[in-house]
Amino acid sequence: EARIRPEPVLFFSGELEEQLRRNREMEDQMEQALADGEFVAYYQPKFNMATGEICGAEALVRWQRGPSHLYYPDQFIPLFERNGFITEVDFCVLDQTCALLRRRLDGGLPVFPISVNQSRLHLQEEGYLQRLTEMVKRHRVPPNLIELELTETAFNGLERLDELAKQLKKIGFLLSLDDFGSGYSSLSLLGGFPLDTIKLDRTFMDRALSSSRSQTIVQKVVELAHEMGILVICEGVELPEQARFLLQIGCQHAQGYLYARPIPADAFEALCRQNAPV
Ligand code: C2E
Ligand code: CA
Ligand code: CA
Ligand code: CA
Repeated sequence: EARIRPEPVLFFSGELEEQLRRNREMEDQMEQALADGEFVAYYQPKFNMATGEICGAEALVRWQRGPSHLYYPDQFIPLFERNGFITEVDFCVLDQTCALLRRRLDGGLPVFPISVNQSRLHLQEEGYLQRLTEMVKRHRVPPNLIELELTETAFNGLERLDELAKQLKKIGFLLSLDDFGSGYSSLSLLGGFPLDTIKLDRTFMDRALSSSRSQTIVQKVVELAHEMGILVICEGVELPEQARFLLQIGCQHAQGYLYARPIPADAFEALCRQNAPV
Protein backbone atom coordinates (compact mmCIF):
# COMPACT_ATOMS: atom_id res chain seq x y z
CA GLU A 1 0.00 0.00 0.00
CA ALA A 2 2.88 2.33 0.78
CA ARG A 3 3.86 2.16 -2.89
CA ILE A 4 0.85 4.18 -4.04
CA ARG A 5 2.02 7.23 -2.11
CA PRO A 6 4.49 9.30 -4.12
CA GLU A 7 7.82 9.83 -2.39
CA PRO A 8 7.90 13.68 -2.18
CA VAL A 9 4.52 13.83 -0.47
CA LEU A 10 5.62 11.22 1.99
CA PHE A 11 8.69 13.27 2.79
CA PHE A 12 6.71 16.49 3.16
CA SER A 13 3.99 15.03 5.34
CA GLY A 14 6.67 13.34 7.42
CA GLU A 15 8.28 16.66 8.23
CA LEU A 16 4.99 18.31 8.92
CA GLU A 17 3.99 15.48 11.20
CA GLU A 18 7.25 15.73 13.04
CA GLN A 19 6.68 19.46 13.57
CA LEU A 20 3.14 18.86 14.79
CA ARG A 21 4.36 16.12 17.11
CA ARG A 22 6.97 18.44 18.58
CA ASN A 23 4.41 21.20 19.05
CA ARG A 24 2.03 18.82 20.80
CA GLU A 25 4.84 17.67 23.05
CA MET A 26 5.72 21.27 23.93
CA GLU A 27 2.07 22.03 24.66
CA ASP A 28 1.82 18.97 26.90
CA GLN A 29 4.90 20.02 28.83
CA MET A 30 4.65 23.81 28.97
CA GLU A 31 2.63 24.14 32.18
CA GLN A 32 4.88 21.77 34.09
CA ALA A 33 7.94 23.47 32.59
CA LEU A 34 6.70 26.81 33.90
CA ALA A 35 6.11 25.34 37.36
CA ASP A 36 9.57 23.75 37.30
CA GLY A 37 11.27 27.01 36.40
CA GLU A 38 12.46 25.82 32.99
CA PHE A 39 11.79 29.18 31.35
CA VAL A 40 14.94 31.09 32.13
CA ALA A 41 15.64 34.74 31.45
CA TYR A 42 19.00 35.44 29.85
CA TYR A 43 20.32 38.97 29.75
CA GLN A 44 22.05 40.76 26.94
CA PRO A 45 23.76 43.92 28.16
CA LYS A 46 23.30 47.24 26.39
CA PHE A 47 26.43 49.33 26.18
CA ASN A 48 27.29 52.95 25.99
CA MET A 49 29.92 52.67 23.26
CA ALA A 50 31.45 56.02 24.11
CA THR A 51 32.28 55.06 27.69
CA GLY A 52 32.24 51.26 27.50
CA GLU A 53 29.77 51.12 30.37
CA ILE A 54 26.80 48.81 30.65
CA CYS A 55 23.71 51.03 30.53
CA GLY A 56 20.97 48.43 30.55
CA ALA A 57 20.02 44.97 29.42
CA GLU A 58 17.35 43.05 27.56
CA ALA A 59 15.81 39.92 29.04
CA LEU A 60 15.56 37.12 26.47
CA VAL A 61 13.86 33.87 27.34
CA ARG A 62 15.34 30.38 26.96
CA TRP A 63 13.65 27.06 27.64
CA GLN A 64 15.98 24.82 29.61
CA ARG A 65 14.46 21.40 28.94
CA GLY A 66 16.53 19.06 31.03
CA PRO A 67 20.21 19.55 31.70
CA SER A 68 21.38 19.40 28.09
CA HIS A 69 18.61 20.94 25.99
CA LEU A 70 18.48 24.69 25.67
CA TYR A 71 15.69 25.87 23.39
CA TYR A 72 15.76 29.29 21.72
CA PRO A 73 12.72 31.55 21.37
CA ASP A 74 12.16 30.85 17.68
CA GLN A 75 11.47 27.21 18.60
CA PHE A 76 8.57 27.93 20.98
CA ILE A 77 7.48 31.59 20.93
CA PRO A 78 5.45 31.35 17.69
CA LEU A 79 3.57 28.36 19.14
CA PHE A 80 2.98 30.14 22.44
CA GLU A 81 1.77 33.22 20.62
CA ARG A 82 -0.81 31.05 18.90
CA ASN A 83 -1.98 29.17 22.00
CA GLY A 84 -1.77 32.16 24.34
CA PHE A 85 0.81 30.71 26.71
CA ILE A 86 3.22 33.53 25.81
CA THR A 87 1.46 35.67 28.40
CA GLU A 88 2.61 33.33 31.18
CA VAL A 89 6.14 33.17 29.80
CA ASP A 90 6.39 36.95 29.55
CA PHE A 91 5.24 37.40 33.13
CA CYS A 92 7.68 34.72 34.24
CA VAL A 93 10.52 36.66 32.56
CA LEU A 94 9.31 39.86 34.18
CA ASP A 95 9.23 38.11 37.56
CA GLN A 96 12.87 37.00 37.20
CA THR A 97 13.87 40.45 36.00
CA CYS A 98 12.22 42.18 38.96
CA ALA A 99 13.97 39.72 41.28
CA LEU A 100 17.33 40.54 39.69
CA LEU A 101 16.75 44.27 40.08
CA ARG A 102 15.60 43.77 43.67
CA ARG A 103 18.81 41.84 44.47
CA ARG A 104 20.88 44.68 43.05
CA LEU A 105 18.92 47.33 44.94
CA ASP A 106 19.28 45.36 48.17
CA GLY A 107 22.99 44.93 47.56
CA GLY A 108 23.49 48.64 46.93
CA LEU A 109 24.68 47.85 43.40
CA PRO A 110 24.20 50.16 40.43
CA VAL A 111 20.91 49.63 38.62
CA PHE A 112 19.69 50.49 35.14
CA PRO A 113 16.51 49.80 33.23
CA ILE A 114 16.08 46.24 31.97
CA SER A 115 13.78 45.61 29.07
CA VAL A 116 11.35 42.75 28.66
CA ASN A 117 9.62 41.76 25.43
CA GLN A 118 5.85 41.99 25.44
CA SER A 119 3.81 40.08 22.91
CA ARG A 120 0.83 41.92 21.59
CA LEU A 121 -1.50 39.30 22.99
CA HIS A 122 -1.53 40.59 26.55
CA LEU A 123 -1.88 44.19 25.55
CA GLN A 124 -5.44 43.38 24.63
CA GLU A 125 -6.11 41.37 27.72
CA GLU A 126 -8.33 42.55 30.50
CA GLY A 127 -6.27 42.98 33.64
CA TYR A 128 -2.87 43.24 31.91
CA LEU A 129 -2.10 46.58 33.45
CA GLN A 130 -3.05 45.41 36.90
CA ARG A 131 -1.00 42.22 36.69
CA LEU A 132 1.99 44.24 35.54
CA THR A 133 1.62 46.72 38.36
CA GLU A 134 1.16 44.03 40.97
CA MET A 135 4.33 42.29 39.82
CA VAL A 136 6.60 45.31 40.25
CA LYS A 137 4.90 46.19 43.53
CA ARG A 138 5.44 42.72 44.92
CA HIS A 139 9.18 43.05 44.24
CA ARG A 140 9.21 46.69 45.31
CA VAL A 141 10.86 47.61 42.02
CA PRO A 142 10.33 51.15 40.71
CA PRO A 143 8.48 50.85 37.37
CA ASN A 144 11.00 53.13 35.71
CA LEU A 145 13.53 50.30 35.89
CA ILE A 146 11.33 48.18 33.65
CA GLU A 147 11.21 48.90 29.96
CA LEU A 148 8.48 47.27 27.90
CA GLU A 149 9.63 46.37 24.39
CA LEU A 150 6.85 46.35 21.84
CA THR A 151 7.18 45.69 18.15
CA GLU A 152 5.50 47.71 15.50
CA THR A 153 2.92 44.98 14.88
CA ALA A 154 1.79 45.33 18.48
CA PHE A 155 0.59 48.79 17.58
CA ASN A 156 -1.30 47.78 14.45
CA GLY A 157 -5.02 48.11 14.71
CA LEU A 158 -5.12 48.37 18.46
CA GLU A 159 -7.50 51.12 19.35
CA ARG A 160 -6.93 51.01 23.06
CA LEU A 161 -3.17 51.09 22.73
CA ASP A 162 -3.06 54.87 22.79
CA GLU A 163 -4.84 54.80 26.08
CA LEU A 164 -2.83 51.85 27.39
CA ALA A 165 0.47 53.52 26.49
CA LYS A 166 -0.56 56.62 28.39
CA GLN A 167 -1.51 54.58 31.42
CA LEU A 168 1.74 52.63 31.35
CA LYS A 169 3.68 55.88 31.19
CA LYS A 170 1.63 57.31 34.02
CA ILE A 171 2.56 54.38 36.26
CA GLY A 172 6.17 54.98 35.29
CA PHE A 173 7.10 52.12 32.95
CA LEU A 174 9.46 52.88 30.09
CA LEU A 175 8.26 52.15 26.57
CA SER A 176 10.49 50.95 23.80
CA LEU A 177 9.73 50.37 20.13
CA ASP A 178 11.50 47.18 19.06
CA ASP A 179 12.82 46.34 15.58
CA PHE A 180 12.48 49.94 14.44
CA GLY A 181 12.81 50.21 10.67
CA SER A 182 11.88 46.62 9.94
CA GLY A 183 8.28 47.48 9.11
CA TYR A 184 6.39 50.30 7.50
CA SER A 185 4.86 52.55 10.12
CA SER A 186 7.86 53.18 12.34
CA LEU A 187 8.08 56.87 11.55
CA SER A 188 4.44 57.58 12.27
CA LEU A 189 4.66 55.72 15.57
CA LEU A 190 7.50 58.02 16.54
CA GLY A 191 5.08 60.91 16.54
CA GLY A 192 2.07 59.17 17.97
CA PHE A 193 3.24 57.31 21.05
CA PRO A 194 5.00 58.34 24.26
CA LEU A 195 8.14 56.33 23.49
CA ASP A 196 11.27 56.45 25.63
CA THR A 197 13.44 54.35 23.35
CA ILE A 198 13.62 53.05 19.82
CA LYS A 199 15.70 50.04 18.92
CA LEU A 200 17.13 50.21 15.44
CA ASP A 201 16.62 46.84 13.82
CA ARG A 202 19.61 44.69 12.96
CA THR A 203 18.74 44.75 9.26
CA PHE A 204 18.84 48.53 9.39
CA MET A 205 22.47 48.23 10.37
CA ASP A 206 23.28 45.91 7.48
CA ARG A 207 21.80 48.36 5.02
CA ALA A 208 23.43 51.32 6.68
CA LEU A 209 26.89 50.21 5.76
CA SER A 210 26.00 49.38 2.18
CA SER A 211 25.37 52.84 0.76
CA SER A 212 25.75 56.47 1.68
CA ARG A 213 22.03 57.04 1.14
CA SER A 214 21.19 54.41 3.73
CA GLN A 215 23.71 56.01 6.03
CA THR A 216 21.93 59.31 5.64
CA ILE A 217 18.61 57.69 6.55
CA VAL A 218 20.01 56.17 9.73
CA GLN A 219 21.68 59.43 10.66
CA LYS A 220 18.50 61.44 10.15
CA VAL A 221 16.39 58.93 12.07
CA VAL A 222 18.80 59.13 14.99
CA GLU A 223 18.74 62.93 14.88
CA LEU A 224 14.96 63.01 14.68
CA ALA A 225 14.57 60.64 17.63
CA HIS A 226 17.07 62.58 19.72
CA GLU A 227 15.31 65.85 18.93
CA MET A 228 12.14 64.27 20.26
CA GLY A 229 13.92 63.20 23.42
CA ILE A 230 13.89 59.53 22.47
CA LEU A 231 16.87 57.32 23.23
CA VAL A 232 18.22 55.29 20.31
CA ILE A 233 19.72 51.85 20.80
CA CYS A 234 21.20 50.00 17.87
CA GLU A 235 20.64 46.26 17.82
CA GLY A 236 22.82 43.60 16.31
CA VAL A 237 26.10 45.49 16.30
CA GLU A 238 28.63 42.85 15.29
CA LEU A 239 31.41 44.78 13.61
CA PRO A 240 33.79 47.50 14.80
CA GLU A 241 33.01 49.56 11.69
CA GLN A 242 29.33 49.53 12.61
CA ALA A 243 30.20 50.84 16.06
CA ARG A 244 32.44 53.52 14.56
CA PHE A 245 29.71 54.65 12.17
CA LEU A 246 27.14 54.83 14.96
CA LEU A 247 29.40 56.88 17.18
CA GLN A 248 30.07 59.22 14.27
CA ILE A 249 26.39 59.95 13.82
CA GLY A 250 25.80 60.40 17.53
CA CYS A 251 24.27 57.05 18.44
CA GLN A 252 26.11 55.88 21.53
CA HIS A 253 24.00 53.00 22.69
CA ALA A 254 24.22 49.52 21.29
CA GLN A 255 23.39 45.92 21.90
CA GLY A 256 25.14 43.22 19.93
CA TYR A 257 27.54 40.33 19.72
CA LEU A 258 30.46 42.73 19.35
CA TYR A 259 29.98 43.58 23.03
CA ALA A 260 28.15 40.65 24.59
CA ARG A 261 25.76 37.81 23.89
CA PRO A 262 22.72 37.01 26.00
CA ILE A 263 23.97 35.27 29.17
CA PRO A 264 22.41 33.81 32.33
CA ALA A 265 21.66 36.18 35.21
CA ASP A 266 24.68 35.23 37.32
CA ALA A 267 27.07 35.66 34.39
CA PHE A 268 25.42 38.99 33.63
CA GLU A 269 25.89 40.17 37.20
CA ALA A 270 29.52 39.06 37.13
CA LEU A 271 29.98 41.10 33.96
CA CYS A 272 28.43 44.12 35.67
CA ARG A 273 30.89 43.81 38.56
CA GLN A 274 33.76 43.69 36.12
CA ASN A 275 32.36 46.61 34.18
CA ALA A 276 31.82 48.91 37.17
CA PRO A 277 34.29 51.78 37.40
CA VAL A 278 36.75 51.22 40.26
P1 C2E B 1 14.41 40.59 19.59
O1 C2E B 1 13.54 41.15 20.65
O2 C2E B 1 14.64 41.42 18.38
O3 C2E B 1 15.76 40.20 20.33
C1 C2E B 1 17.03 40.32 19.77
C2 C2E B 1 17.50 39.01 19.20
O4 C2E B 1 18.71 39.23 18.46
C3 C2E B 1 17.88 37.99 20.28
O5 C2E B 1 17.64 36.68 19.77
C4 C2E B 1 19.39 38.21 20.42
O6 C2E B 1 20.07 37.11 20.95
C5 C2E B 1 19.77 38.49 18.99
N1 C2E B 1 21.01 39.28 18.86
C6 C2E B 1 21.51 40.16 19.75
N2 C2E B 1 22.64 40.72 19.29
C7 C2E B 1 22.88 40.15 18.08
C8 C2E B 1 23.93 40.33 17.09
O7 C2E B 1 24.88 41.10 17.24
N3 C2E B 1 23.83 39.58 15.96
C9 C2E B 1 22.79 38.72 15.76
N4 C2E B 1 22.80 38.01 14.62
N5 C2E B 1 21.79 38.56 16.64
C10 C2E B 1 21.83 39.27 17.79
P2 C2E B 1 16.81 35.63 20.64
O8 C2E B 1 17.20 35.70 22.08
O9 C2E B 1 16.93 34.32 19.93
O10 C2E B 1 15.33 36.17 20.54
C11 C2E B 1 14.65 36.17 19.31
C12 C2E B 1 13.33 36.86 19.43
O11 C2E B 1 12.44 36.13 20.27
C13 C2E B 1 13.41 38.24 20.05
O12 C2E B 1 13.82 39.18 19.09
C14 C2E B 1 11.98 38.44 20.53
O13 C2E B 1 11.16 38.86 19.45
C15 C2E B 1 11.56 37.03 20.92
N6 C2E B 1 11.69 36.89 22.38
C16 C2E B 1 12.78 36.57 23.10
N7 C2E B 1 12.50 36.51 24.44
C17 C2E B 1 11.18 36.82 24.56
C18 C2E B 1 10.27 36.94 25.68
O14 C2E B 1 10.61 36.77 26.86
N8 C2E B 1 8.97 37.27 25.38
C19 C2E B 1 8.55 37.49 24.10
N9 C2E B 1 7.27 37.81 23.91
N10 C2E B 1 9.36 37.40 23.04
C20 C2E B 1 10.67 37.06 23.26
CA1 CA C 1 13.38 42.87 21.89
CA1 CA D 1 14.73 43.66 18.24
CA1 CA E 1 12.73 40.72 16.59
